[in-house]
Amino acid sequence: MTVYLVGAGPGDPGLLTVRAAEVLAQADVVVHDRLSVATLLDLAPAAAERISVGKTPRGPSTPQDDINALLVERGRAGQEVVRLKGGDPFVFARGAEEAAALAAAGVAFEVVPGITSAVAVPAYAGVPLTARGLTTTFTVVTGHEDVRGAGSTDWEAVARLGGTIVVLMGVANRAAIADRLLAGGLAPDTPVAAVQWGTRPEQRSVRATLAGLGHAEIASPAVIVIGATAGLDLAWYERLPLFGRSVVVTRPAARASELSRRLVRLGAHAVEVPCIRIEEAADGGAALRAAATRVADVDWVVFTSAESVERFLPLLRDPRSFGGAQVAAIGPGTADALAAWAVVADLVPERSVAESLLAAFPPPPADRRGRVMLPRAAVAREVLPDGLRAQGWEVEVVEAYRTEVASPPTPAARAEVAMADAIVFTSSSAVTAFLEVAGADSLPPVMVCIGPVTAATARHHGISVDAQAEVHTLDGLVDALVAVL
Ligand code: SAH
Repeated sequence: MTVYLVGAGPGDPGLLTVRAAEVLAQADVVVHDRLSVATLLDLAPAAAERISVGKTPRGPSTPQDDINALLVERGRAGQEVVRLKGGDPFVFARGAEEAAALAAAGVAFEVVPGITSAVAVPAYAGVPLTARGLTTTFTVVTGHEDVRGAGSTDWEAVARLGGTIVVLMGVANRAAIADRLLAGGLAPDTPVAAVQWGTRPEQRSVRATLAGLGHAEIASPAVIVIGATAGLDLAWYERLPLFGRSVVVTRPAARASELSRRLVRLGAHAVEVPCIRIEEAADGGAALRAAATRVADVDWVVFTSAESVERFLPLLRDPRSFGGAQVAAIGPGTADALAAWAVVADLVPERSVAESLLAAFPPPPADRRGRVMLPRAAVAREVLPDGLRAQGWEVEVVEAYRTEVASPPTPAARAEVAMADAIVFTSSSAVTAFLEVAGADSLPPVMVCIGPVTAATARHHGISVDAQAEVHTLDGLVDALVAVL
């Protein structure tokens, strides 16, 4: 019943506010600009309507009056409306006009401030807006208006203020802006930092002087910082180990984000191409539910994936339902999934492969039949059940879920894969599924696997593996990627 004017931040999805994520999660409709980051739009429910009111520099755009009318109409219709805007909604974003239209129409609205590019983009370029001893003020100015015309910003006065000058929308007029600031008394050698696509993996910064700003090679969107602090070199984002690299993540959609987040934190652009879908078991979960009632009757329950844990544990009323059964996890990721249910794995092998688990598994009791329950994917390697049986265990394999090959990537995703620097695989099934939906020709130059089984599957298909994680976890995978890229 409310229209939220929400700041989306400057681009890095991590710079969204907690409140913005909250209102997005309960939106009926999201009205966004064309450049909004896709992962932010994903925070809205799948069923929410998404309306692009694209504003491109010289392309088509929705007139502001139409946007105002749309917000009023949807608000009146009783929908939860999120108007998502880059940076902060009240900084050069016409949020004031939208709020005024809503107020005039009697539609309830809230403003969710965002991290403005005026502050965040210089920060990601390592340019502080103030620094003790260098500047006591900063001024944020639009360079969009007719800089040489009468009645425009008093640039000479801005120059006389003497602090840091932050210019938004100033790329096209940069020469004229420089002239007026020089006319206002700023020194020709005043440092300048122009930062394009700040806070994103595409970030590019150019250092210049005020005299050279007019012919600095920079394109929109960019924030131009003029003043002594622009001469400091505190770059950090552009020095991150995966900065600017584009990495294809093939995990199923629900599991991709954790890996993508780690890559993004290292400066990479993560391209999610989920190659497998996780579906419920063919019997609708009946066997798994039945198995859950018998869990206390077995000696061991063995989990070979976090997915199995997350499907099995909710079926137990309480972790104590395990009774005397011990619990094994194939690796740290699976153990973490158990820990989320307050279950501490009794056995986690050194290496996250079936062979290692087998080697570490105790022998069955001598005086009675020893029983193992193994809830897992419908199709999986038989190494574990066969090996346990060979050790004398009675093994019950229970189908916990199925993996299906996902639909082929969209043309847009394909184009991103073609440009990518690397691809990472966290399972054999993802390798085969990728080859099926995208084909070997679309593999990026560098490929990294989580472990030996995944790597063997790749080699079996004639694909060379550039690196393999030493520790078979997401962290291990990311470390291997950093080492090879
Ligand atoms: N409300 C927004 C500003 C919108 S005006 C905010 O608070 O950030 C659009 C201008 O913002 C662009 O022309 C550019 O100067 C700046 N801008 C926005 N995002 C940017 C980014 N990621 N990198 C560089 N400049 C950006």
